[in-house]
Amino acid sequence: MKKEYDYLVVGAGLFGTVFAERMTSIGKKCLVIDKKDHIGGHIYSKKIEGIEVHIYGAHIFHTSNKVVWDYVNKFASFNNYINSPLAIYKDEIYNLPFNMNTFSKMWGIQKPHEALEIIESQRKEFWVQEPKNLEEQAINLVGTDIYEKLIKGYTEKQWGMKTTDLPPFIIKRLPVRFTYNNNYFNDTYQGIPKSGYTDMVKNMLEGIETRLKCNYFDNKDLYDNLADKIVFTGPIDRYFNFCNGNLEYRALKFEHEVLNISNFQGNAVVNFTESKIPFTRILEHKHFDFGKQEKTIITREFPSDWKLGDDPYYPINDEKNNQLYNKYKQLSKKEQNVIFGGRLAEYKYYDMHQVIDSALSLANKESILNEE
Ligand code: UDP
Repeated sequence: MKKEYDYLVVGAGLFGTVFAERMTSIGKKCLVIDKKDHIGGHIYSKKIEGIEVHIYGAHIFHTSNKVVWDYVNKFASFNNYINSPLAIYKDEIYNLPFNMNTFSKMWGIQKPHEALEIIESQRKEFWVQEPKNLEEQAINLVGTDIYEKLIKGYTEKQWGMKTTDLPPFIIKRLPVRFTYNNNYFNDTYQGIPKSGYTDMVKNMLEGIETRLKCNYFDNKDLYDNLADKIVFTGPIDRYFNFCNGNLEYRALKFEHEVLNISNFQGNAVVNFTESKIPFTRILEHKHFDFGKQEKTIITREFPSDWKLGDDPYYPINDEKNNQLYNKYKQLSKKEQNVIFGGRLAEYKYYDMHQVIDSALSLANKESILNEE
């Protein structure tokens, strides 16, 4: 018997929202539910004192995928913000990502060949053909000085683990450049929605029934009976009642503060790379949008341990957790009419554009299936 909805989408984050929007556009009936009291998952933003605040930490949209860029531009107008964070180590301040500005400040040099020679001399002692952990990867990339001052402390407090126990891929996302270019990303397109991420998500969900403060697991049978197919974007281990044990995450805690000054740090993102400072970054939200407000809002970002029941942020994609995830993935294949997607259901360290790409692919696949 035909059910009331074609799709029940569990989770109103980016993955669920994009999927629901696409399927609705081809005439499918979707119901989106979320246990939180707001849409957007972790890209949720909110206006405070006239400033759009990224409540769950900085989200800077970047992609080289034209399809994804065109897609988001249907729902938001993007500004021309380019992320160029700074890093503070003790009393020294450096440009990120690692580029000629960083090298020049670190070693008092000016030319790319000078930087290359220094890095070369520092890394040759430790060079490994195939880095097995983040420390090896980082030293291979930028040598020991930058590793010691700008990577080691930051990374160990961010992940709560030794760099020698962390997978190399985490640091691979950071560009290393021998030009004076402070753009943190190599992507073709970059920016932040002018009226905020929440507004963008709201536009995507227009005309789609969305129920907030609804926990799928409180009424799973009832929800399952509402729709022909379920798109589950929550933690995959939770879906299977942690039957193989729980996956691990790194959590974040945020301290937002309104200051009665107009400009606190002169940049949207400043990283604190010393291990003894408990937070990793301070965000100053108005600079994401070139704000001219009289006040400013800053957010200190504290990485913290995660325990079951806490909000999950970063998946810990080490071998142990990846193996456990694979067990759940096997189980998920047997689950008829349930599709698992997004950061938590795929247990992936996803950027926004990757989440969107993945949701668009799923929607395409579903559309084709629907046509058959
Ligand atoms: N990183 C670092 N020093 C920095 C910034 C980043 O060592 O000042 C490393 C760190 O290992 C971090 C990774 O690069 O986990 C990725 O950082 P990014 O800011 O891109 O990740 P996000 O936390 O924003 O997802």
